[in-house]
Formats: sequence, C-alpha cells, structure tokens
Amino acid sequence: MQVRWLQDKVQSKLHDRMQKKWVARTRAWVSGAPQGDVGAADRCMVCGKQLRRHRTVAGEGRVCSPECALAWAETLES
Ligand SMILES: [Zn+2]
Repeated sequence: MQVRWLQDKVQSKLHDRMQKKWVARTRAWVSGAPQGDVGAADRCMVCGKQLRRHRTVAGEGRVCSPECALAWAETLES
C-alpha cells in the first residue's frame, strides 16, 4: 500500500515538472522568436553565413559551399 502511494506521488511529481517545463518552453515560443532554432535553419552551420532559401538543404547539414560542407564533415569525424 505504502509503496503504491509513493509511486503515485513520484509519478505526479514527475508529471508536474514536465508540464512546467513544457509550459515554459511554449511561453518562450509564443512570446518571441525562439533562440537559435528558427534562425539557425537558414544559416551555414560552419561559417554562419545566411543561406538563400533555394540553397537550403533539408536535414542536418546546412552549409553555404562545398568548402564548408567539407569543414563540417571534418568536425563530425573528430
Ligand atoms: Zn559556410
């Protein structure tokens, strides 16, 4: 009985904490531009140069040139 009560308590505490985190994140999204997330999508991952939309490649590797692609690949290797 006591163990079960404790489990419930822990469960609800965890849930509460996750909900608070989620609310805070949502609030950040609503109140302004999310730091990093959206802006980073249009920037070269290596030199930070703004990418033109048609050059943006879906996925992880967003780079402005083959040189940057190579530099990025090297950071993955090490
Ligand atoms: Zn670049």
